[in-house]
Amino acid sequence: MSESKINLVGQSRDELAATVAGLGEKPFRARQLWHWIYYRGETDFAQMTTLAKSFRETLAETCEIRRPATVTEQLSEDGTRKWLLRGRDGNEFESVFIPEEDRGALCISSQVGCTLTCAFCHTGTQKLVRNLSAAEIVGQIMVARDTYKEWPSPAEGRLLTNIVMMGMGEPLYNYDAVAKALLIAMDGEGLAMSKRRITLSTSGVVPMIEQVGNELGVGLAISLHAVTDELRDVLVPINKKYPISELLAACRAYPGSSNARRITFEYVMLNGVNDSPADARALVKLLAGIPAKVNLIPFNKWPGVGYECSTPEAIQTFSDILNNAGYSAPVRTPRGRDIMAACGQLKSASERQRGEKVQLDATA
Ligand code: SAH
Ligand code: SF4
Repeated sequence: MSESKINLVGQSRDELAATVAGLGEKPFRARQLWHWIYYRGETDFAQMTTLAKSFRETLAETCEIRRPATVTEQLSEDGTRKWLLRGRDGNEFESVFIPEEDRGALCISSQVGCTLTCAFCHTGTQKLVRNLSAAEIVGQIMVARDTYKEWPSPAEGRLLTNIVMMGMGEPLYNYDAVAKALLIAMDGEGLAMSKRRITLSTSGVVPMIEQVGNELGVGLAISLHAVTDELRDVLVPINKKYPISELLAACRAYPGSSNARRITFEYVMLNGVNDSPADARALVKLLAGIPAKVNLIPFNKWPGVGYECSTPEAIQTFSDILNNAGYSAPVRTPRGRDIMAACGQLKSASERQRGEKVQLDATA
């Protein structure tokens, strides 16, 4: 029964070595197995021809190489692709691939839903929350690699070049599984995603930020969205626990940040809420001394939300003020809006249906 089999996906190198030792095999077999799983993308033990036949049979009896199950796969008219995935317990989560001309970023989830309740975020309205396992997190990358047939891990010409932890959930509320999954993704003898091409976005879990820099060394993105505590308390409620000054102090001290490796500040543009020229000037003051760039995100609407996206003129003025002060401040092009794949639109399908049902009931 596959229920009792050990899923090798998501095991760290040490854990895999222990599993292999438990099956009575030498440590170098774990290295070979790692290569098959993460470099080759192989899922069938029988195909692992560098392993003895008897060991392959033992593996097939006791272990499995399992990705999350794909429930649906949607392709946007702009090439963005969204997978709705399901864990063993039936809980669902999404990943999104955003292709660009010479690169492509996979946006992956860290939790089913999110315990935080940012006022403008669809994921934050989802009641059901659980942490994803390391297997489910790294499994999202493997599912995308399967779709784009990027096995064995190509060194050049990859479509999937970047990973952004910007899907559902707050990654720093599930740090252990996220760290384990990213260390697997970064392993040079496997998926070989460079840490320079991985970005972790947090709403501001201040006590965890230094650890991210020290242990993972990935790029840091901060969901700032407001320049005063008064407004940020409303938009990003975790601010009540870790206010802007503490958050920015953690950014100033982020290990490894430099002009060549800036911290990204994400700023969602909400009409009449946080998008005035005065807000932009205040942002410039706040960022002083931090190697920073700003990502301006046009607000993506979802059913039932009370906010509107800023006007193109307001966004342009905001961006110009930052540019003139020396900060790169590109406006993020919304991608995959037609399939609800854009920033902040992710939510499990079952939860979405539940939401729609409530709305129907309310109007009945
Ligand atoms: N929980 C983490 C990572 C996931 S959110 C975080 O909050 O940083 C990824 C980004 O999308 C965050 O900056 C988030 O604030 C932003 N976002 C959320 N809802 C949005 C919406 N409706 N429109 C545009 N951006 C949104
Ligand atoms: Fe959670 Fe991030 Fe959405 Fe806030 S913006 S509710 S932290 S997923």
